Amino acid sequence: MQISRNISLQPYNTFGIEALAENFAVIETIEDIATISKLTKQYQQWHLLGGGSNILFTDNLSGLTLYNQVKGIFIVQEDETTVLIKAFAGEKWNDLVQFCLQHNFAGVENLSLIPGSVGAAPIQNIGAYGVELKDVLEYVEAYHLDKHETEIFSNKACRFGYRDSIFKQQYKNRLLIVAITLRLNKIPKLVIGYGSLQQQLEKMGIVKPTIQQVAEAVNIIRTNKLPDPAKIGNAGSFFKNPTISKFRLHVLSEQYADIPGFALDEMNFKISAAWLIEQAGWKGKREGNVGCNPLQPLVIVNYGGATGKEIYNFSEAIIQSVKQKFGIELEREVNIW
Ligand SMILES: Cc1cc2nc3c(=O)[nH]c(=O)nc-3n(C[C@H](O)[C@H](O)[C@H](O)COP(=O)(O)OP(=O)(O)OC[C@H]3O[C@@H](n4cnc5c(N)ncnc54)[C@H](O)[C@@H]3O)c2cc1C
Repeated sequence: MQISRNISLQPYNTFGIEALAENFAVIETIEDIATISKLTKQYQQWHLLGGGSNILFTDNLSGLTLYNQVKGIFIVQEDETTVLIKAFAGEKWNDLVQFCLQHNFAGVENLSLIPGSVGAAPIQNIGAYGVELKDVLEYVEAYHLDKHETEIFSNKACRFGYRDSIFKQQYKNRLLIVAITLRLNKIPKLVIGYGSLQQQLEKMGIVKPTIQQVAEAVNIIRTNKLPDPAKIGNAGSFFKNPTISKFRLHVLSEQYADIPGFALDEMNFKISAAWLIEQAGWKGKREGNVGCNPLQPLVIVNYGGATGKEIYNFSEAIIQSVKQKFGIELEREVNIW
């Protein structure tokens, strides 16, 4: 594996931010992974880069940046009803979804068109339209950069939560995800109850959709609602939807009757961060080259030439403003580097 110095990361992040990687190495083969230990021992700090669609660079990256490009998608086991699919981390997530759609393997159709790599999918337990990676993930193969050994994490061991996993917490930047294995169904169990998905299928006049039609409906919604990073820099949802207590929701709803709350359990509710941001007056707002998307206020956009620090400061202003108005502190979904 070769190390390149002072590499511009602008083509490697969907915000289009300029930042330099002091040392940059591309992992191209499985054999490269076996030799990583020699490399990582020389550096104090590692950064693991996928498609850069969930990262905001606020500074140059010191230490070693590893860019995993190992590819391959395989059927590892199948019976009449289910199939195990293994995909290497360097594959694009949406290429894996396409592979599944082509083979009629159900389970990931709602996750169609999510940008980024297969390797990053378990990090924040990607999710959309009522489905999360945890619903289909069998296990993750990961390489410990400090212990220099490979470990298999079962679904349970990944400790998946809402946009969260063990890889985002205790193993942050210490484990290189090498491959994931999914358990998919040959007889689809569709998840089409999510409001906007249901409406889109109705609009398309489809009552009993195939998995391909579900993916098509998802693609239409996403294309209409989310800015295309190839045209305008962004990293999708910048913030997570916060969780508040039933009591807190009750108090807030006396002042804001239309506050949208979704029950997680008897005592806790998830609140729409988009609604909070819009109510705080940020929807469509622009400061210099940074803005809050006019269609989906959860998305912060780089209109061109913004720095990572400007975007970070803009996000901080949103957090403070929502906190002041509602007493709720928004948490960033995007990784700040
Ligand atoms: C337009 C748009 C829409 C989006 N929609 C959604 C959505 O619907 N749902 C959703 O969940 N997300 C969404 N996202 C966010 C993003 O696509 C996902 O989080 C995706 O999984 C990030 O993949 P990536 O390869 O770009 O990861 P990166 O941004 O490169 O990295 C993200 C994190 O993963 C780590 N990482 C990356 N690869 C590895 C690896 N091989 N081993 C260990 N750690 C690794 C990085 O260190 C970093 O901490 C969206 C983003 C955009 C731009």
